[in-house]
Amino acid sequence: MTATAHEITYRLDQKRSLNGAFPGPKSQALNERRAAVVAAGVSSGVPVYVEDADGGIIRDVDGNFFIDLGSGIAVTSVGASDPAVVAAVQDAAAHFTHTCFMVTPYEGYVAVAEQLNRLTPGDHEKRTVLFNSGAEAVENAVKVARLATGRDAVVAFDHAYHGRTNLTMALTAKAMPYKTNFGPFAPEVYRMPMSYPFREENPEITGAEAAKRAITMIEKQIGGDQVAAIIIEPIQGEGGFIVPAEGFLPALSAWAKEKGIVFIADEVQSGFCRTGEWFAVNHEGVVPDIITMAKGIAGGLPLSAITGRADLLDAVHPGGLGGTYGGNPVACAAALAAIGTMEQHDLNARARHIEEVALGRLRELAADPSAGGVIGDVRGRGAMLAIELVQAGSKEPNAELTKAVAAACLQEGVIILTCGTYGNVIRLLPPLVISDELLLDGLEVLAAAIKANA
Ligand SMILES: *Cc1c(COP(=O)(O)O)cnc(C)c1O
Repeated sequence: MTATAHEITYRLDQKRSLNGAFPGPKSQALNERRAAVVAAGVSSGVPVYVEDADGGIIRDVDGNFFIDLGSGIAVTSVGASDPAVVAAVQDAAAHFTHTCFMVTPYEGYVAVAEQLNRLTPGDHEKRTVLFNSGAEAVENAVKVARLATGRDAVVAFDHAYHGRTNLTMALTAKAMPYKTNFGPFAPEVYRMPMSYPFREENPEITGAEAAKRAITMIEKQIGGDQVAAIIIEPIQGEGGFIVPAEGFLPALSAWAKEKGIVFIADEVQSGFCRTGEWFAVNHEGVVPDIITMAKGIAGGLPLSAITGRADLLDAVHPGGLGGTYGGNPVACAAALAAIGTMEQHDLNARARHIEEVALGRLRELAADPSAGGVIGDVRGRGAMLAIELVQAGSKEPNAELTKAVAAACLQEGVIILTCGTYGNVIRLLPPLVISDELLLDGLEVLAAAIKANA
């Protein structure tokens, strides 16, 4: 095990500790207040209320210290109170909280665009636009692609997740809970088969063959010359941390280029050092035409972005892109600081180190007879790792066990997220600044929970 490249310091004690049963009395009282005023459609996986968070720890209002293996869904990669982000936010807010970039612009927005144009793959001329949420970035990437190509059709994939707004619901694959009864959905969205190595009928199918399967369907069902954009998560997030077979993404992107189709990589979850590279497409040298970013971009402040080919983005008429809050100055300051922390602490290397530590442990566990053969697959890159739970001896998804394991981890003070079309994937998204000790402790709790429930 290698040491952290740069010393990361913590404000909170980096130790799991539970202070009696939970939810404790203060969280219980808050849950009661909440039930009376917050809509039932917003649900929380963990019934405790946060008072403080730092490094790999979340402390609740009753004094419980939880290990955070979720990062608020891949957001707090630099930690939930990175000192550089905190200082930048304080300084920015003390000067101005908002002016609206479309009215009176400011340097932070320009500086973030410079950073994103530098960090995203490809050395072509690029342009950037800033928004607030991942869904908004996706919506705008599609707007740009349609305007620039003059075409309507958009191709998305099985197991895709792109958000909860009307267009992004249409792009998202899973009905419950994201789409059910929320229609009608946006038209001209077509869904194609993903490369999902663990669940392929033919386990020998290569990435290139899986791409050909999708391309043939696009050609037959839509026509390549009708397609404005192909949008894909290079590693799928909510759909189950699905890593497509090697060669799938390069083949798709090469075909898109040939047909004048805008290739959009939705890196909202996989971006910003999460997979051990700045972006997940870098693992296979794919250069998207447009890349969507959010989540890890700004150390927890709401910010999203699209960065892409200058000829595409500059095709849009003045005033065609924007929004009241897009590129808020405080969020921009946070993004610049978070990117600084990622570079200073080489969080790409940290993510690769987390992969080395955790993937080994998870593979060991999968092979351990006392885990009862319920771990069907172990996969992921960097600090975006997952195990897919099945009925022992088959590939039948085991959502019930997945729920039980997550609940058992929580009882021991470890926050773990689930995902997947079949609800049977446990995903690990620790803050990249988590200590090895805390990570290993969390993995031991996970291992025990699987063994106890298998
Ligand atoms: C979370 C996510 C989104 C939506 O982001 P929001 O900020 O929740 O709107 C879009 N795409 C991917 C891949 C995501 O993981």
